[in-house]
Amino acid sequence: MQIENDIKLDYSDVLIKPKRSTLKSRKEVDLERVMRFRNYKADFPENVREYSEYHGGGHFDGIPIIAANMDGVGTFEMADALMKHNIMTCLKKTYTVNELVEYFDSDHYKRSWYVAMSIGSTDADYLKFRNVQELTDGKIRILCVDVANGYTEAFSNFIYQLRLNHSNIIIIAGNVVTADMTQELILNGADIVKVGIGPGSVCTTRIKTGIGYPQLSAVIECADSAHGLGGHIIADGGCTNAGDVAKAFGGGADFVMLGGMLAGHDEGGGEVEDGKVKFYGMSSETANDKHFGGLKDYRAAEGKDVLVPYRGAVDTTIQDILGGLRSACTYSGAKRIKDLTKCTTFVRVNNTHNKVFGNGT
Ligand code: 5GP
Repeated sequence: MQIENDIKLDYSDVLIKPKRSTLKSRKEVDLERVMRFRNYKADFPENVREYSEYHGGGHFDGIPIIAANMDGVGTFEMADALMKHNIMTCLKKTYTVNELVEYFDSDHYKRSWYVAMSIGSTDADYLKFRNVQELTDGKIRILCVDVANGYTEAFSNFIYQLRLNHSNIIIIAGNVVTADMTQELILNGADIVKVGIGPGSVCTTRIKTGIGYPQLSAVIECADSAHGLGGHIIADGGCTNAGDVAKAFGGGADFVMLGGMLAGHDEGGGEVEDGKVKFYGMSSETANDKHFGGLKDYRAAEGKDVLVPYRGAVDTTIQDILGGLRSACTYSGAKRIKDLTKCTTFVRVNNTHNKVFGNGT
């Protein structure tokens, strides 16, 4: 047994220190980023026009926020709404091949660049991806390979094989929370590593298993190790407000993935009852009953159900988040979201108020 004594931080443990700035208005802040990915080899001879239209020389050009691949969030409707802001969506894994083919095989070329198909890491998952790819003539550009525990040898092997067979897709892989595993996944072919075990608003992993890592420290450490190799990371889970999103970018996240903050909107498709919408973890009993014929007897549910307020169209929430981010950049002197991390000095706080309103796990 070992104990690590360094202090590890969650979003609620810090604030960003304000700094002098030459920005005159929040409007001047550029929230878009152009990124080129480490392992992805672009191959788009027929679609060069569309590519240059959306991507100023990079493989991604947009606001680096991602809707999570969860019921009530990672839906086609959400993807189409967020795409208008150049924001990405990872679709929920439970869409069928036919549904995915119908969605991607349309004239909507932008869908290929801002919408990721999500799968797990079984042979059946791989076959599903292959099917969709074949039936749409290669319209899937971004594939999110998402498992609860990204630490298994089998998972790294899966990513390795995937990259070997598909050089022309952007691979998102996770979840992990440490520098060593971030590098392992990048070296095995991932472009973007998804970081976060236990911080999610409907996640109960920390209380069911005792496993986890304070999210801000995970982001800082994994970003550092990914960037050294030319890789990218997503801070996944634990953001409860726009301030947390700013802290994630300040910590070095290239993308921030949101579940709970984007739940409760029309685009998620949930039923509204008494002004509330049910939102649940993808390994909760509810999700297992709905999609997988109930919880297997050797597994515990590591997610819970919550009721979130119904919030109408997602556009209003997005404006709110982007407004907060612009303001955070202005306070810290960052002209671009890309610069926020180098302009960030965190101050540690001992703020019980923040903790009460944190995710509580
Ligand atoms: P949120 O933004 O709601 O705080 O976190 C969203 C993230 O929580 C998702 O992207 C995913 O990584 C994680 N998540 C979703 N459902 C579950 C679940 O049932 N159990 C666990 N442990 N994590 C979940």
